[in-house]
Amino acid sequence: MPVVPLAGLLGQSEVSRFLRQVVASGRYGNAYLLHGPAGVGKGTAALAFARAALCDHVPGAAPREAGLFDAPALPIPAPGDDACGACEACRKSAQLIHPDLKLVFTVSGSEKDVQDSEEGAIVGTFDGLRQDPLFVFQYDKAASIRMFQTRALQRELAYRPFEASRRVVVVRDCDRMREDQYSTLLKAIEEPGANTLWVLTTSRLARVPATIRSRCQRVRLMPLTEAAIRGVLERDAGVSAQESRLLAALSNGSLAHALVQRGVQPSLERDAAMALLEPARRGDATALWKAVQQAAGFGRTSREKLRRLIEHQQLWLRDLLRLRYGASEDHLVHRDRVAALRAEAAVTDAQEVRRRLLVLEEAIRAIDGNVSVDLTLFSTLSRVAGRRVGERAWPPHAAGRAAV
Ligand SMILES: [Zn+2]
Repeated sequence: MPVVPLAGLLGQSEVSRFLRQVVASGRYGNAYLLHGPAGVGKGTAALAFARAALCDHVPGAAPREAGLFDAPALPIPAPGDDACGACEACRKSAQLIHPDLKLVFTVSGSEKDVQDSEEGAIVGTFDGLRQDPLFVFQYDKAASIRMFQTRALQRELAYRPFEASRRVVVVRDCDRMREDQYSTLLKAIEEPGANTLWVLTTSRLARVPATIRSRCQRVRLMPLTEAAIRGVLERDAGVSAQESRLLAALSNGSLAHALVQRGVQPSLERDAAMALLEPARRGDATALWKAVQQAAGFGRTSREKLRRLIEHQQLWLRDLLRLRYGASEDHLVHRDRVAALRAEAAVTDAQEVRRRLLVLEEAIRAIDGNVSVDLTLFSTLSRVAGRRVGERAWPPHAAGRAAV
């Protein structure tokens, strides 16, 4: 199983340094709360920290007695600040079968599906984690950590650690629990002499109760750079350079987001988004209305997809700005469309590009709110095209009063 050590955390050098200092000192706090945007590596960092804390060759590790069937002892390396990757404990924690490593995470699905079946969400998630180095946790918006998961954990906590000098409990997305689960968690964190190291993660810090937050040392992870995301996409996921530039630019610094989207062929999506503008540019209200209805899937298209249509337009306009400001082609996201960009940049000044970007920002906010999607798209596209398409036929955009 490919395992990321603390030293190998992608784009989080400060977090890596801090956690390795903790491991090297052998003095752990009761609980750490890793927070930051979704998809930047909090779960990976939490597991790397857990594995390091359980390794036989870090300060504070339990002395291991040689068992009858153990291989002859290898020379013991000097105590380190990271999982050694070679000891018995590291082998087990890499496979997620170390008895003192507990991993709790959010799952979707009915209680029965999650718990019982061999194909259930929990078994499936562990398999994914073991086998796929690019595994991404995915679940419904309203999914949560279930009662049976925290109850099972509670039973485990009654015992002393089995093999290591401490037990490590990683709770992913700890903001997805119920009130009574939080009070159990709080009690467990505060238990004196419990030999348990808690490593919690959240991308919604404000939803974690203040009582929990105040008991944890907080560790903040930052959004990843586009270069870091592109590196993984191209090197490990076999994504082409052009698609990875688009995916990284659309990812908002989230590797998980880029990985989940890597199947969609973003350049085709981009072309579709840009094609939407054509009828608006011609001033053809009927054709624009038809295109908008299709893009909105007659009400069935998700808001997430509509947001991406707008985001593609934003990326295009930002490339126009870059060209207006004299950036080289290396800095463009749409390097496969340089000729079209140059032609448009030649006739569109920076102020006009910024005006269009403001229109798009407004549309993104509108899509998140309770608006009529087709009307929003219609008025957004005609305003971006700089035309007053169908002005008499359709109500003006709600924000049209704030002339931009
Ligand atoms: Zn080790």
